[in-house]
Amino acid sequence: AKGDPRMKDFSPLGNSFDATYTDHIYRQSTDVVNRPISGVPGAIVRLKDRYTDDHGWTQKYTGKETEVINLGSYNYLGFSHRSGVCADAAAAYIDKYGINCGGSRQENGNHIVHKSVDRTLADYLRVEDAVVFPMGFATNSMNIPALVDKGSLILSDRLNHASLVTGCRLSGAHTMVFRHNDAKDCERKLRDALCGVSPKTGEKYNKVLIIIEGIYSMEGTIVDLPSFIAVKKKYNCYLFLDEAHSIGAVGPSGRGVAEYWGCNPKDIDIMMGTLTKSFASAGGYMGGAKKTIDYIRRYSAGTCYGVTMSPPLIAQVERAVLIMSGQDGTDIGRQKAISLLDNSRYFRKELRKRGFLVYGNNDSPVVPLMTFYITKVVEFSRRMLKHNIGVVAVGYPATPLLEARVRFCLSADHTKEHLDYILEALVQVGEETNTFYGTKIDE
Ligand code: PMP
Repeated sequence: AKGDPRMKDFSPLGNSFDATYTDHIYRQSTDVVNRPISGVPGAIVRLKDRYTDDHGWTQKYTGKETEVINLGSYNYLGFSHRSGVCADAAAAYIDKYGINCGGSRQENGNHIVHKSVDRTLADYLRVEDAVVFPMGFATNSMNIPALVDKGSLILSDRLNHASLVTGCRLSGAHTMVFRHNDAKDCERKLRDALCGVSPKTGEKYNKVLIIIEGIYSMEGTIVDLPSFIAVKKKYNCYLFLDEAHSIGAVGPSGRGVAEYWGCNPKDIDIMMGTLTKSFASAGGYMGGAKKTIDYIRRYSAGTCYGVTMSPPLIAQVERAVLIMSGQDGTDIGRQKAISLLDNSRYFRKELRKRGFLVYGNNDSPVVPLMTFYITKVVEFSRRMLKHNIGVVAVGYPATPLLEARVRFCLSADHTKEHLDYILEALVQVGEETNTFYGTKIDE
């Protein structure tokens, strides 16, 4: 009966929102990987020390901190520090423009700094126009529904990020999933679908959108962009590219996978990216033809109902682009790109040499080392922490259930000494946890 205290445990919401019901393994892993950061997440990061009580249930702080080599943060170009050309830009913008913009683009949130960063990014991406949003996740989830509707067809890579999947679902479009990074499978599914009608409307599709990522954050794969552009052109459909992990991180001037493959950015209808990784800021952007971006400005829920990006975060983006494109008059950007590429190639090659199984392309700074078992990944990261190395343990639902992995994100700021020290520790931890699933490659 309603109000009966004995019924408390059977309420409609049940205990599903109660964190104490989170499973034990997750608790153990957060104990290791989710310790609060108490400094700048650069190549080295400070973590608050904590321990789990005797029952393995409650986490307590010791009051101490540990410095670890950071392989977890998306600090690809090492811009997270307030140093070099980025120094003081954010502080100057706070003084001049404040922290909050107080409205959406369509109301009173459209400041001169937004117009300026839109242009900066459009020029950097080599497209006609761009528009920024205060959150990367929302840039996808809010804008895909503005681009397609229930009469449309979406072809989405099987491993696309949750923000893209959310966007696809919210759009109501009929969504078909193709094999990871497989343009041929994408084409097959597209051709079959175009022979029929939309199951949602019973009519011919009004639009077709292919959605891919530049670098897949759990696989380290670099997208086969030329093949997807060929499919897009052959069937005259739209191509949406999420460059969250590739912008700044690949290409000689960090311009992402289009520059990496030598493709024309104008062949990609929507160049989406986040500002949380290489730019070390926060937010997301969409770039493309002027008419597409104007359409987004006018019709996206994000520009109508969401507040605009904060000025200090914009300052960080402006400075990062200045450096990456070499317009600051220094060689820092080019050097950063070179050292990130060198680190990525070196680290992956050395891991393979030692018999670890690693996924992804040689040039990708995202390096997943396969442990397969979720329990093993937790133990692995815990033991790495004893060597003062912070790694991210990833399991279901971010990966398939039996494909847990340790995911390394390399930075231009990691030195060769850092990497050699990490490799030595990895071999030791690999032996302790029996994690050699690859073939030793001598080169
Ligand atoms: N797209 C991809 C491919 C991502 O990996 C992420 C987050 N890592 C996002 C979008 C969301 O970006 P943000 O974390 O900046 O909100």
